[in-house]
Amino acid sequence: MFSGSPRANDALGLAAFSVVWEAVLSGVNLFGAAESNERASGTGVTRFVRVVVERGIDAKGGDGLTYGDRSGLLRVGDRVEVPLGKGNTRAGGLVVAVGGTELLGGISPARVKLVVGKAVEGLETRLPASLVELARWMSEYYVCPLGVVLANMMPAAVKRGTGRRVERVLQRIEGVVIPVDASKALRTAWAAMERVEQDAWPATEAELRGLMGLRSVRGIRMLVRAGALRESERVVVRSMGGSGLLEGEEGGGNAGEDKGHSLGEVERGSPSDATRSEGGFRLTCEQAAAVEGIGATLGTFVPHVLFGVTGSGKTEVYLRLIDRVLVRGERAIVLVPEIALTPQTAGRFVARFGRDRVAAMHSGLTASQRNAEWRRACSGEASVVVGARSAIFAPVERLGLILVDEEHDSAYKQDSQPRYNGRDVAVKRGQLEGCPVVLGSATPSMESWWNATRGGGKYRLWRLPSRAPGMVMPRVEVVDMQEQRRLRASGGDLTQRLLGPRLEREMDATLSAGGQIILLLNRRGFAHHVACPDPKCGFVLCCLYCDASLVYHKGTELPRGGLVRCHLCQSEQVLPTLCPVCQKKLRVFGGGTQRAEEELERTFAVHGIERHKTLLRVDSDTMTTGREFASALARFGRGEIKVLLGTQMIAKGLDFPNVRLVGVLDADTAASLPDFRASERTFQLVSQVAGRAGRGREPGLVIVQTWRPGDPAVRLAAEHKFEEFAELELHRRVKYGLPPRTRLVRIVCRDKDSAKARAAAERVVSALVGQESTEKDGVRGQGAGGLGQGPGGDGLRFVVEAGGGLRDHPQPFPADGRGRLSVRGPYEAPIAKIAGYYRWAVEVTGGSAGAVQSALGEARRRGLLRSDAKTAVDVDPISLM
Ligand code: ADP
Ligand code: ZN
Repeated sequence: MFSGSPRANDALGLAAFSVVWEAVLSGVNLFGAAESNERASGTGVTRFVRVVVERGIDAKGGDGLTYGDRSGLLRVGDRVEVPLGKGNTRAGGLVVAVGGTELLGGISPARVKLVVGKAVEGLETRLPASLVELARWMSEYYVCPLGVVLANMMPAAVKRGTGRRVERVLQRIEGVVIPVDASKALRTAWAAMERVEQDAWPATEAELRGLMGLRSVRGIRMLVRAGALRESERVVVRSMGGSGLLEGEEGGGNAGEDKGHSLGEVERGSPSDATRSEGGFRLTCEQAAAVEGIGATLGTFVPHVLFGVTGSGKTEVYLRLIDRVLVRGERAIVLVPEIALTPQTAGRFVARFGRDRVAAMHSGLTASQRNAEWRRACSGEASVVVGARSAIFAPVERLGLILVDEEHDSAYKQDSQPRYNGRDVAVKRGQLEGCPVVLGSATPSMESWWNATRGGGKYRLWRLPSRAPGMVMPRVEVVDMQEQRRLRASGGDLTQRLLGPRLEREMDATLSAGGQIILLLNRRGFAHHVACPDPKCGFVLCCLYCDASLVYHKGTELPRGGLVRCHLCQSEQVLPTLCPVCQKKLRVFGGGTQRAEEELERTFAVHGIERHKTLLRVDSDTMTTGREFASALARFGRGEIKVLLGTQMIAKGLDFPNVRLVGVLDADTAASLPDFRASERTFQLVSQVAGRAGRGREPGLVIVQTWRPGDPAVRLAAEHKFEEFAELELHRRVKYGLPPRTRLVRIVCRDKDSAKARAAAERVVSALVGQESTEKDGVRGQGAGGLGQGPGGDGLRFVVEAGGGLRDHPQPFPADGRGRLSVRGPYEAPIAKIAGYYRWAVEVTGGSAGAVQSALGEARRRGLLRSDAKTAVDVDPISLM
């Protein structure tokens, strides 16, 4: 369903959600008028709270400052304003503990300041207590100040109360009877009022007019005068206007009016839906087993891995599980890697459960929409939250299920503080809430696969090994680019081309037959480097601020028809024509999506392939907003676009039945990175994009072009053999002591001065290995290059590898090396400089999470390790660049 539907995104038209959260103003300031400098002495305050201010304080005060609570009503999770420091500047913070004088820790109440007030007047702004607990865990696990974690949990728009406004509302007063001498008009109005449903109160005058079916407000005014209705104020959050991406084609969400779209309405307007209507079919045996098996664990914490090939009906399993959760009166959170990139998946949840039951949280929303959606989740008005990474912090109470779709996706990792992985936080949250967590993927991460197949099956595994009825897996053909190039050369064609003859022929055939094509090239720009053609010179044009070659981008709007851009710091230069060293004419090498676009236009002009019309390039240069992407997909869905060419943006979740051919122009883009996950990434990318083919009645074909046809990652992806690949890969990881066999933490120190960055990294190493501890399984170490052992031989052992380049074959870990810890570095990061900052790294590898955590925790407590602007502590890193 939603396949190719131009309205797929419209289904997400959450702009239509209107009044989303409200609080009737009590008219009383709960806090009295506490002045910023007022203290608890003499005010009779006996209740105190600990407040963690939303700042990067780690050591002292990191777990909160004590304030007096005059209202006596504050709860854990409330967001408040407190006076800070000598000047009593107001700062926002969260209540993390509530109690009496025991919170004072011996300080005299006379010195304790009072909470100034709630952060957003008239609106309750709080996190459920379980999220505060989750924040504590994250702060510890990800080595990040608690205030920073808490600040990250609540969207800025919620804190600011964006879109809030005061409305006059009418409330019915029970027990008032109609006067005996009531006029006919009043009697009519009264009768209409009695027909208004109980849960519609309180309502604005305009809403009431609609509910009562009146043409004017006269009747309502009469009811007020007669004492049947009372006027009061309430604060509401209204999301104004459209939401870009979520608006879809038919233009905007008109606040209020669209509420309550039924499933049928959402689905209308998309012809292909009729044939693939959702929910009408019977589950396959495997789907049913997964629904039953996972369903049986509702109410308890159990992590599940749902491993289902592309198109096997995982989403259907999610939907049925949510059905069960809702029946139990509980709620669900669904994480998707990036809504902007997966509007189809997200749209299906809206279609199934209706707009008013689903809250969407993602970067495409306006500030007021974000505030509104958050409050709908908080109040329970929405019982299903669908969102990207940070939706794991949705303030949902009575949480019954967490689903993580495409759990392997690196978009779940946040690359700024706190550097968490949404999937792992999801598992922790499930544990705290006591609910199951489902990690779904066609290519599970090695971490999840390990947990599902090793170590006593920490996670339960469910398999959906075949595609849903009516669809077969596409045939995948791996073609050797070396050979393809020879073939062309033998025909006299010596031009460097991105398309080999095999793929070209299949494209010809597919276009002639009216099929659509998706082409993947995971590299933007025209050419990925600019260099001197003379190998003796060897000049390569590099960024002034980064350790990176510059990428050539073409464009008629650009000076001299093109410029070179750094993909790390985004700085740009005009393309120099001559080599600055030897004055030869510079040449561009390597192909990106722009070059592919030109080549496609040239090659398939006979089929009417034309840029912007029938051929569309989808990468972060052409798609700057989610809305552009959504509209591109809609045009592809309508069949206007014949060939969709793009980076990994197009590899995810697209479901278009007429895609009969998928081409991978260069399967090796990830494989060349010096990163131990390169193979896993290659496998994922090839499988995911291959999964876009053959989703209709026609069988699909996938052509994978590669320079390394022997690469097992490419070959096994082509054969749809995930389990074989996973075994091979895990075997290698175990052999070399890499995650998930071990736990890895990477610390990067940066500075404008390389020596200072290096020195900082050296201090990190000594903080980690030089520490002494009296705890039983405490941490001990010897100087660099040595092997240390704790007392009695049961302590942690260190291997310190000082300096050194990139690790190809790290130390193998002994099978029983759970307590073992190895610290490597400092070494210059593979990208040694970014935006003018030099980067030095330290790697900590441990036999278990506990071993790593206790070493980091100890260094942190002693003030020797912290995450800040110059030091990035990355626990379970995704990228090692
Ligand atoms: P996945 O999420 O695993 O990629 P989807 O849930 O998108 O797979 O399912 C692929 C297609 O198959 C969808 O169009 C879906 O509606 C359909 N489908 C799922 N389960 C069944 C079933 N049991 N019988 C028939 N069609 C199904
Ligand atoms: Zn740069």
